[in-house]
Amino acid sequence: MFKDLGIYKKGGVITERNPEYCTVRIRIPAGMVSPDQLRGIADIVERYGGDSVQLTVRQTIELPHMPPERLVEISRDLSANGTPLGAEKEEVKNIIACTGNQRCIFGNIDAVALAREIDQRLFGREMPVKLRIAVSGCPNACTSPMLNEIGIIGKIEPMRVAGMCTGCGTCVEYCKEGAIAIKKGISVLDSAKCIECGVCIRSCPYDLLKSSGPYYLITVGGNRGRHPKMGRELVAVRTGKAAADVVEKVVTWVYRKAWSGRLLSDQLDDLQFEAFKAEIRNQVPEEDLFRPGVIADDEVTAGSGT
Ligand code: SF4
Ligand code: SF4
Ligand code: SF4
Repeated sequence: MFKDLGIYKKGGVITERNPEYCTVRIRIPAGMVSPDQLRGIADIVERYGGDSVQLTVRQTIELPHMPPERLVEISRDLSANGTPLGAEKEEVKNIIACTGNQRCIFGNIDAVALAREIDQRLFGREMPVKLRIAVSGCPNACTSPMLNEIGIIGKIEPMRVAGMCTGCGTCVEYCKEGAIAIKKGISVLDSAKCIECGVCIRSCPYDLLKSSGPYYLITVGGNRGRHPKMGRELVAVRTGKAAADVVEKVVTWVYRKAWSGRLLSDQLDDLQFEAFKAEIRNQVPEEDLFRPGVIADDEVTAGSGT
């Protein structure tokens, strides 16, 4: 029954156990929908005989028990609602993001805006492998970016203004990584322990902890599922646009080089990831590259203390 319906083969349409029905998945970057769109989705579900929706781990909404013979109409109505058909197969899937600095007190970057930018550029692109992208506003990593084929994490490197620390210890209390200690009356950072969350910067009552600004760490080749793997660090950049540019290059690289039938995480070495990493670093404009310990303000020195 489905062979004549080309739309059935698209990623947003999922086979159900009962072949009289299918599930329709929606494209919702960062999981953000307006009240009108939510009402529209509810109307569409009822129009086509559904009685529920399911919220997915990839921040999309699925419409269960849709009639396959009406997929063209369903897709048309979903597009008109601003919530078009999603992706599930070997393609760039729904881009997920946490609230980032739009709402979360820990957010270092605008994760939602970046997810939308990446969605506009790349959503649904056909790939040799499933390609999941997740953005988190800070190293708390609420969207598990390192368990996605491409992950982006907003970080910030702390630096202390030289010679002015009172040794009050507030930053020591706030650092959950045990990365700061008071030595000889001033705070000293152990950069090996620091995960660059930026919490200490906001904690100093004297505003003595600075940074050169947030940056975007991009990882490649993670996956969850039955054999989870952490992604490998590719490059760190200074702006959302530069991050989206790098993500686009990674997707093109995977499209050109990866083999189908294997997870990206299982073929990173065969794809010569380390060579690609060097190549990407050469392609990112110097002003967009994040370099640890490089600071804009001359009166601020690295928090490693003196
Ligand atoms: S990852 Fe960080 S910024 Fe994003 S929701 Fe979690 S704590 Fe907030
Ligand atoms: S940025 Fe580093 S030192 Fe500061 S609170 Fe986070 S882990 Fe601790
Ligand atoms: S850096 Fe700020 S919070 Fe930390 S010990 Fe010095 S004065 Fe206190």
